[in-house]
Amino acid sequence: MSRSIKYIQTDVNGAAEGQRRRVAIIGAGLVGSLAALNFARMGNDVHLYEYREDIRTAELVQGRSINLALSQRGRKALAAVGLEEQVLATAIPMRGRMLHNVRGRTSIVLYDPCTKQCLYSVGRKQLNEVLLNACDAFPNISCHFEHKLTTANIREGQMQFKVAHEEQLISTSADLVVGCDGAFSSLRQQLVRTPGFNYSQEYIATGYLELCIPAKNGEFQMPPNYLHIWPRDSFMMIALPNQDKSFTVTLSMPFEVFAQLKTHQQLLDFFRQHYMDALPLIGEEQLIKDFFKTRPQHLLSVKCKPYHFADKALILGDAAHAMVPYYGQGMNAGMEDVTLLTSILNEQLPLDEALAKFTESRWQDAFAICDLAMYNYVEMRDLTKRLSFRCRKWLDTTLFRLFPRQWVPLYNSVSFSSMPYSQCIANRQWQDRLLHKTLSFSLLASCLVAGAIYARRLR
Ligand SMILES: Cc1cc2nc3c(=O)[nH]c(=O)nc-3n(C[C@H](O)[C@H](O)[C@H](O)COP(=O)(O)OP(=O)(O)OC[C@H]3O[C@@H](n4cnc5c(N)ncnc54)[C@H](O)[C@@H]3O)c2cc1C
Repeated sequence: MSRSIKYIQTDVNGAAEGQRRRVAIIGAGLVGSLAALNFARMGNDVHLYEYREDIRTAELVQGRSINLALSQRGRKALAAVGLEEQVLATAIPMRGRMLHNVRGRTSIVLYDPCTKQCLYSVGRKQLNEVLLNACDAFPNISCHFEHKLTTANIREGQMQFKVAHEEQLISTSADLVVGCDGAFSSLRQQLVRTPGFNYSQEYIATGYLELCIPAKNGEFQMPPNYLHIWPRDSFMMIALPNQDKSFTVTLSMPFEVFAQLKTHQQLLDFFRQHYMDALPLIGEEQLIKDFFKTRPQHLLSVKCKPYHFADKALILGDAAHAMVPYYGQGMNAGMEDVTLLTSILNEQLPLDEALAKFTESRWQDAFAICDLAMYNYVEMRDLTKRLSFRCRKWLDTTLFRLFPRQWVPLYNSVSFSSMPYSQCIANRQWQDRLLHKTLSFSLLASCLVAGAIYARRLR
């Protein structure tokens, strides 16, 4: 039986009263820094350990995607710590998808023509900076940059870190260790060794590489308020706007297609054939430089359960449920983990019960969004081009307009609501069944009417 923890809600600057728990958070990325804020607001003594140098002072920020689509779940989590407005002030709204066909012609599919909700393009670095600056305002958060977790004994709460420029590993301990250390989480590796921990991972055969459409004469080269997509069946390219009026372009293709592009000429021919309108915007020289500068990155989907070990350890965000990036939900889902965890911790259950409740309340939704992210890859690269996709979108929008409570389209429920992800799937399934039945019934009725008319004519 674990000791019961007295969590005291404090104001933002609050000096917490009552029992303080030492909480070690591994990873000061988007989820780790948000989790640190929430644990600190509950009066805990928080230590935030980050492998890299401080992103705010680093000259070169390595890592994944430069910008991200922020939607409802992430916004809600930021609002809970008073940061939503600050983040949205510099974010760029994206009202829909702008589709580019092979001839360079564009068409627009709005995300939400009814209630006009949109996604927001935010810079990863800027968002992380906002969160870390907010951490600095808490006297009960200590940030330790360039500290890489190497081993952890989760039963004892013991950890060892490799510190930059230091020979010796340093050892420390905590009452609760929270792994927010991303898709290749070191803490998860420790959990894998505990009995009853189930884990699966899947690499997809597609890799991605980031390119850039720079600003021209201080202006965007394409309309900024859209997520641009170049769907090309088995591969695609997308672009999100940045504050400096450039676009970050993500080229996603099977690794074998990347491997075929060995020379400058092959690359340019490929772009002339598939992305003719994007090529002059990126610029031939820049394309060659950026494309051959790095190798395509791998994409991974991780499902595991439980997310906790007794009252000692917990994993959140990508550490618990990495997903392919095609629903734009990885960060949003990770932030929603923090919202859910905070509300459970505020129930003041014994910690082991609270963490067990978190796992139980979360795993089905985490599995669901991993599956949806896989599905959306097919939708983005292939289905968006099809007439059937547009017809379905039109039908969904019409029904949503008529029955806004009953008929929430899948994309809206995932991106613009906090409906549990598994419920979003269940919702879509009954909508599909209903449409299927209605369509079958209409077809049958039309056949019967046509048959009756024909029979009368024969008489
Ligand atoms: C190309 C691409 C595009 C994406 N687009 C979107 C999008 O539009 N919207 C969206 O919601 N999501 C998107 N995502 C997903 C999103 O990036 C992740 O879900 C999100 O970054 C997860 O945050 P995290 O804090 O859990 O993990 P991470 O961001 O990976 O942060 C983990 C942190 O832990 C640190 N760390 C790792 N190991 C250790 C260690 N041993 N010791 C100490 N520190 C450690 C790392 O340095 C890092 O700072 C995208 C992902 C990719 C790859």
